[in-house]
Amino acid sequence: MFVAIDQEGMMINVAEKKWSRQRLMKLRSERSFICPTCKQEVDLKIGSIIAAHFAHKKYGECSTVKGNYESEYHMKGKHDLYHWFHRQHGIESVQLEPYIQETRQRPDLYIEYNQRKIAIEYQCSTIDMRSFKKRSQLYKQEGISYLWILGAKTLTRVGKQSYQLSPFQWNFVIKKKNAAPYLYAYCPNLRSIIVLYHILPFSSRTVISEHKHYPLPATSFQDVMKLQTHNKGNLRKEWLQKIKKFRLKPPGFQSKQSSRFHQYLYQMVHLPPSYLPSYAFLPLVYNYIFESPVYVWQGLILLFIQSIPLYGSFRVHDVYYAISMRMNDGFITVRSLTEPVSFITAIDAYLKKLAVLKVVVFDEKELLKKVKEIRWITQMDELLLEDTKIISTI
Ligand SMILES: [Zn+2]
Repeated sequence: MFVAIDQEGMMINVAEKKWSRQRLMKLRSERSFICPTCKQEVDLKIGSIIAAHFAHKKYGECSTVKGNYESEYHMKGKHDLYHWFHRQHGIESVQLEPYIQETRQRPDLYIEYNQRKIAIEYQCSTIDMRSFKKRSQLYKQEGISYLWILGAKTLTRVGKQSYQLSPFQWNFVIKKKNAAPYLYAYCPNLRSIIVLYHILPFSSRTVISEHKHYPLPATSFQDVMKLQTHNKGNLRKEWLQKIKKFRLKPPGFQSKQSSRFHQYLYQMVHLPPSYLPSYAFLPLVYNYIFESPVYVWQGLILLFIQSIPLYGSFRVHDVYYAISMRMNDGFITVRSLTEPVSFITAIDAYLKKLAVLKVVVFDEKELLKKVKEIRWITQMDELLLEDTKIISTI
C-alpha cells in the first residue's frame, strides 16, 4: 500500500510525485507509520525495483491487504493506474487507498468523474465471493459506482479468441442491456489495459471474446470506457471452431450435470450431444445468464419444441416452466452474479432468434407456433455445413 499515517496523524501518500528517493530516506529516518485500517505498524520500503510503499510488519487480518499479501504485481498496477487517472482530463479528483466513510471500505482508487463517484478495485487474487459481493452492494447503496479491474495475469487464454473465466472472474464482467458483456484487466508488465469485448460463454468456463490492448501512455479514460465494435467475422469463426471441436472430439471428463444431459438426450433421441442440431449453439448476448453450456439449455428448449406437433401452439410461459423444472432438478444452472439477470431474459432472446430462423412464429406476444420440424442430422459433414449456414445468418 502507498498510504499510511505517521505518528502525528498525518496521511502520507508515497506514490505522489513529490517524493524523491532522498526525501523518502529522510522521511523514513524521522517518522514511524501505522496502517490507516488496522492501526498496526507498517514499514516504509524504498526499493529500486518497486515504487516506495508501506508494508505491514506482520500479515494479520488487515482488510487493506486483499488476499494473503499485496503482491508486487498488484502494487505496480495500482501505482500505474493512479498516475494514469491523474493525467486524465475531466477527472475531478483521484484518491489512492482512501477510506470511504459511508461504506467503511478502502478501495484501491477513488475518482470523481462527471459528478460521479467511482471506486476502483484492482484485483489480482481471488478473494471470498461473499465479501466481494458485499463490497459491491455497499457501494451501490451509497450511490457510488464501482469499476473492477482484473489483474491481467489471472486471465487464462485458451485460444486465439477464447479464455477460461472462473466463477470469481465472472464478477468482474460488466453487463449492459442488449449488449454482450465485457471486462477490464490491467497488466503492469505490458503497461496496458486489456478489454475483453463481447464475451460469449460456450461452456461453464470457456468463453469467446475479442480482446483489445490499450497502452496506458497513449490512451485516455474516455477511449477505454467507449464500447468498441467488435470484429464479428473473427468471433463467428472462433465460435464455429468451438462447435466443430465439440462435435468431433469425444468429451473427456464429464461433470455429473453433463453426463445426466447425455443420458436424457439418449433416451429422447438416441443420439449423443455431438449430434445436437445447429440451433442448440446460437451465440446470443444473454447466454451468460446460464452457467450450463450453451448446448444444454438451448438443447433442452429444442427438445421441448420437438414435443409440440407441427403447426401446434405453445406459450412462452410453457418454455419458462419447462426450463425452471430442469433448473430445479439440477439439469441446468444459472451463473451466480453480483447483479443477477432473470433466466427468462435468455429464453426470450433465444425464442426470438428461433423466430428469425423460422423455426417458430409469434402469433401473439406470448403465443408461439411451431412451423418447422427440428431435424436431427446424423451425417457429421452435413451437420458441420449446417452449423456454418445457421451461425452465418446470425
Ligand atoms: Zn492494516
